[in-house]
Amino acid sequence: MNTIWHPFTQHGLEEDIIKISYTQDEFLISSDGRKIIDGISSWWVNTLGHRNPKIMHAIEEETKKTDQLIFAGFTHEPALKVAKMLGEFLPEKLKYTFFSDSGSTSVEVALKMAVGYFYNKLGKDKSKIVAFEHSYHGDTFGGMSSGARSVFNKPYSHMLFDVTHIPYPEKGREEKTISAYKKLLEQKYNEIGAIILEPLILGSGGMLTYEPFVLDELYKLSKEYDVFFILDEVMTGWGRTGTMFAFEQTNTVPDIICLSKGLTGGSLPLAVTVATDEIYEAFYSKDKAKMFYHSSSYTANPVACAAAAANLEIWKEEDILGRVRKITEFYEKQASDFKNPRILGDIFAFDIDGEGNDYLANVAPKLYDFYRKNDVLLRPLGNTVYVMPPYCISENSLSRVFDVIKESKKLL
Ligand SMILES: *Cc1c(COP(=O)(O)O)cnc(C)c1O
Repeated sequence: MNTIWHPFTQHGLEEDIIKISYTQDEFLISSDGRKIIDGISSWWVNTLGHRNPKIMHAIEEETKKTDQLIFAGFTHEPALKVAKMLGEFLPEKLKYTFFSDSGSTSVEVALKMAVGYFYNKLGKDKSKIVAFEHSYHGDTFGGMSSGARSVFNKPYSHMLFDVTHIPYPEKGREEKTISAYKKLLEQKYNEIGAIILEPLILGSGGMLTYEPFVLDELYKLSKEYDVFFILDEVMTGWGRTGTMFAFEQTNTVPDIICLSKGLTGGSLPLAVTVATDEIYEAFYSKDKAKMFYHSSSYTANPVACAAAAANLEIWKEEDILGRVRKITEFYEKQASDFKNPRILGDIFAFDIDGEGNDYLANVAPKLYDFYRKNDVLLRPLGNTVYVMPPYCISENSLSRVFDVIKESKKLL
């Protein structure tokens, strides 16, 4: 008999796998009729709520016309629409949209663009990458290499390429981060090609927030030393942090931005890596050897692009950020009950006392079970519990989530 090997699941612990038959708004409805509140947007992808009618309609309409089709030498209306509409939301400087199919691949593409730029343009190796400690950029090898070294990637650590990790800019100790980067650039500017960052909040690292001015300073230094400034907005994009993109809260404009998760409202897999003119130009040539050698089979899937275009329409027509603001206001009223509370747009996180601070902290599974038994989906990250619901969540559901969290304190 063939059976399923689930992601991030220790089957040896015999966790009960819940079968879902329907999804609607903020709910996952199980085959035995449980109505589970999706408190983490199905792992940060779902922004507008499950089965948003406009997105579902766009998907349905596109399936009457196309399915998957090759994206080299061919194009289609949904992709053209996505690129055009991204242009309306992103700064002028970000001009070229490269499609792929997940957050991790959008990061791989960004790194390859940056390193390929220096190779094509200067014929030299400027391939050193800088990133934050505790960062997460996906589970492919480029993503793992850029991300923090942790239990997630320990068996593969010797296979990861060397990335310089500068300290996470903890509140009050930001200068440590900035000076570490400055020192690194002074010593190795001719080796460093790019810095890749999760703006304003490190997600998998434990919902660690930091001040926007840090990004401004790192950006200025990057420009000074001709280092590409890559923002991985795979999680932070699409309103999560209270603005459409997190970098809007800073004075930076990335050279490359990675977007996925909420790009289709969380309905279908799709990603884009959007780059500047300057980067595109380095691959533009009569010489075939200089082309950007990257593609995945399902690149720019038309149905997924139609979902993304519908999502972008919704962003134009509806006050999405107004909804996020209401959620933020709800959090603000709750915060005082929690340890080290962090509030950023749609994200609320706090810490619990427990043994050890890492992902394997054993209080997390107990809480996770308790939440699930109470029909609330939350997945604590070690000693951090966080909430990140779809923006359509009702006040009732949000209150329910917090009631269950408060009840769970009896387990601690
Ligand atoms: C989720 C995430 C990724 C990886 O995206 P996948 O679609 O899971 O491959 C990369 N970077 C950040 C910041 C993420 O949150």
